[in-house]
Amino acid sequence: MSFDTSLEFAKDLDSKDELRHFRNQFIIPVENGKEQVYFLGNSLGLQPKTTAAAIQEVLDQWASFGVEGFFKGRNPWLQYHDQLTKPLGNIVGALPSEIVVMNQLSVNLHLMLVSFYRPSGKRNKILCEAKAFPSDQYMFETHVKHLGLDPDEVVIEVSPREGEFTLRTEDIVAAIEKNKDELALVLFSGLNYYTGQVFDMPAITKAGQKAGAIVGFDLAHAAGNIPLQLHDWNVDFACWCNYKYLNAGPGAIGGVYIHERYHTDSSIHRFAGWWGYEKETRFQMAKGFQPIQSAEGWQLSTPSLLLYASLKASLSIFEEAGIERLHEKRKALNAYLWQVLKM
Ligand SMILES: *Cc1c(COP(=O)(O)O)cnc(C)c1O
Repeated sequence: MSFDTSLEFAKDLDSKDELRHFRNQFIIPVENGKEQVYFLGNSLGLQPKTTAAAIQEVLDQWASFGVEGFFKGRNPWLQYHDQLTKPLGNIVGALPSEIVVMNQLSVNLHLMLVSFYRPSGKRNKILCEAKAFPSDQYMFETHVKHLGLDPDEVVIEVSPREGEFTLRTEDIVAAIEKNKDELALVLFSGLNYYTGQVFDMPAITKAGQKAGAIVGFDLAHAAGNIPLQLHDWNVDFACWCNYKYLNAGPGAIGGVYIHERYHTDSSIHRFAGWWGYEKETRFQMAKGFQPIQSAEGWQLSTPSLLLYASLKASLSIFEEAGIERLHEKRKALNAYLWQVLKM
């Protein structure tokens, strides 16, 4: 496709855009009477017009039924989580049973390290990208210290070559191979928040697992933005926030993917809470933790229904638009931008 820089050309593209009516489903901030051109969806996605009603529905159910809202009403809270896992599974390429919605991103990263970073003797290293998002850096540093290890010894950062700004896949794979006897965990972002680089997740997963490590991804800037096939890529685990590209609101509840091979693995360590307990017998309140045999087994606390509601409102729009069509549009917009920049 070739582009030109005229306004007519842009308007013509807009008029042919199958997704154009979705713009009306979001509240666009207005300043001095003028709708803003919003380029900050990477930081906080805009509010769907349906969010307030979805939250109000939970409030109404609470008003009508009190705690019975878990079982009664149009949308009983006990089953609410099931409406989130399929749409999120479509977005990250996972089975619904591999998705759990809980907590927030930095907390979930720590929880995933509890389960998937199990240093043992010499095999205690974590490989990650240099200049990862600060929260990830602090998470590595403090988690490693908490286990009595020295972050300077244990955390290996891969940097771009001198004079380059992005990482070469071959260099990441070489770093994995170089440390193959000592690697416990490889944890990269899917898309670097600063450079915009998309990492070759299948290649990193394959190389990391071949070296005997667990491989996870922080998908904060990838979920809802780029195509993901976590299950098919055989990724071990991943975490993301739902407030950036996924429009679920400031401090939205987080998303986690855990490959199904771990769901019934009783050797996995975790920090448990009652909401991760087997549903049928949860209310027997017995001693001894019995996890739900899916990613939900990693839940700790009573779910945040108000936050579920705002996520559901935005995921419904993604379902309607279709993630493939969104990726097609993103590719076209990128190509347009590149051409215009080069003109
Ligand atoms: C935005 C972002 C975070 C923020 O984590 P919160 O716990 O949601 O504040 C963490 N990691 C990455 C890579 C991010 O882009």
